[in-house]
Amino acid sequence: MSNEKPDENESEEDWMKYANAGFGQTDYSLWDENSAVEQPKEDVEEDSSLDSPDQLGTHMEEIPRAPSPAGHKHLVRMGTCDHCIGRLGGKKRFEQSIEQSGTEIRSLVIERDSHLVTAREEEPLCPFCENLYEESELLADIIYDSISPYELSRLQLGARIPKDQMEEEEEMRKRHGAGGSDALKSGLVNAIAQHLNKRLEGVKLVNDKPQILALIDVLTLTVELDIRAHYLYGRYIKLERGIPQTRWPCRACKGRGCERCDQTGLQYKKSVQDLIGNPLLEIFQSKEHAFHGMGREDIDVRCMGRGRPFVIEMKEPMIRSVDVIEAMETINKAADGSIEITGLRDSNRSEVVRVKDTPAEKSYTIRFRLLPLSEAELAVLTAPVDLTHIDVQERGGKGKKQSSKRKRRGDKKNDHTKPLPSVIDIPEGPDEATLMAMKKPELVAMAEELKLSKAGTKPVLIERILAAGPPAPTYLDLPENDSILETIANLAGVKLAQRTPERVAHRRADLIRRRTVFETSKPVIDTMGDGVREIEFTLRCESGTYVKETVHGDGGRTQPSLSSLIKAKCDVLWLDVGDIHAD
Ligand SMILES: [Zn+2]
Ligand SMILES: [Zn+2]
Repeated sequence: MSNEKPDENESEEDWMKYANAGFGQTDYSLWDENSAVEQPKEDVEEDSSLDSPDQLGTHMEEIPRAPSPAGHKHLVRMGTCDHCIGRLGGKKRFEQSIEQSGTEIRSLVIERDSHLVTAREEEPLCPFCENLYEESELLADIIYDSISPYELSRLQLGARIPKDQMEEEEEMRKRHGAGGSDALKSGLVNAIAQHLNKRLEGVKLVNDKPQILALIDVLTLTVELDIRAHYLYGRYIKLERGIPQTRWPCRACKGRGCERCDQTGLQYKKSVQDLIGNPLLEIFQSKEHAFHGMGREDIDVRCMGRGRPFVIEMKEPMIRSVDVIEAMETINKAADGSIEITGLRDSNRSEVVRVKDTPAEKSYTIRFRLLPLSEAELAVLTAPVDLTHIDVQERGGKGKKQSSKRKRRGDKKNDHTKPLPSVIDIPEGPDEATLMAMKKPELVAMAEELKLSKAGTKPVLIERILAAGPPAPTYLDLPENDSILETIANLAGVKLAQRTPERVAHRRADLIRRRTVFETSKPVIDTMGDGVREIEFTLRCESGTYVKETVHGDGGRTQPSLSSLIKAKCDVLWLDVGDIHAD
């Protein structure tokens, strides 16, 4: 199963390699369109050369091209096969196949020059296709057999022909063939398509967006199938914490399977990707899936509301026409309340791009405990952040997409500022209550560390340590409920400066970004049994805002924070995604 990380730049190239091919790329050219355009120019040159007496008598130029009778005669004399005579003869009528046209031209030539009846025996290798077209029925059979396990309605054919063979044929075609004749490759593909069309039912041969691309290798006479994925769009809500969005390979064994992960190869047993994708593997008879979400929530964050849009990609499916409503019910039943999906429907490759590139505003609900904050901790939370320096050491390797492709509002150059160190070291010693709770040997060790006398009773030691050690922290008074509610209300409209949190620093560039809190609502303050207050509220903020950090301040890396504004420690209990304002 592919585990797609959000920063991984999935290349368009894979998808486009064959779909686009043929127009310009020599090696993978499926259709050669150039010949038709270049032909008239050739004609003019040749005509002028015939007018010039100097050119007369020099080799090939004397022989006129098809569709002149002399041109046809020459094609036959060269040992050209019927298919190539038809392709290059320029006489094909609508109701005829290319081969029929070739047979007709040959018999007209033989009527006039009966000795040419044995031309093919004398020259058994067609100089244009090297008898490749004789294999077209065989190749059609191979394709027919290889695609038969797959349900499909759109098939594209392609061929790999050695470059030198194509170039030689092109040169001869321009010298002897009628203007606008099919090139070697498109001629072969057309011939195979004709055989296939007779046998395939409900399958359209296309030049674009196929479900399967059958690529013929003419050297080995084999066919390689490129089976395109089937895409489904939907929304998921995540009702259980502790589930990552995409599968995480086990850290110990990197997915190979070990004792730590119960041989599953997974760091977490469940993922949103697997809960949705695994039931679909059987339904689509597919080998694996890839998951693309419109952003992602943290593992411990639920996702509520209308749910998060996603596209799941079923790779190499044998089945494509699926009752999506039934599939959705199967997924929801198997997930057993961990997640739930809605609005499942067929989708396509371009929707993946849309889903991944849509920056979405989101609503969150967050709950935290209110604890006392010391003066030293407040100093850290409010330490000045330098927003004037442009960050010059942007990390090249990390956060790839962020620097180039995924520009968000607020990621303007001026905002890539170099953060100041956020840790301010203010020494704080233990207070009397802490020391009272300690055992005597611990106090003796502490006295020793402070280079004090170790003699005396416990109270004596405590007094000595308090007098000599760094000052005990001074805690700030906890705010009143009214003041908390007012501060939460005033958070709406505040533009935050957020330095990349430590917890994501390993996969994101260390930058300061500006993000706006748009709205705050529904604050609730509960006083718990132990007298500690728990506060819950909902906030809507700009895409890319680190929400927990907005509340607890992340050691001064997010400023301002609710914690720094109410001058109390905000110990975050949980966070839920409420709604994603997109689509
Ligand atoms: Zn031929
Ligand atoms: Zn493992």
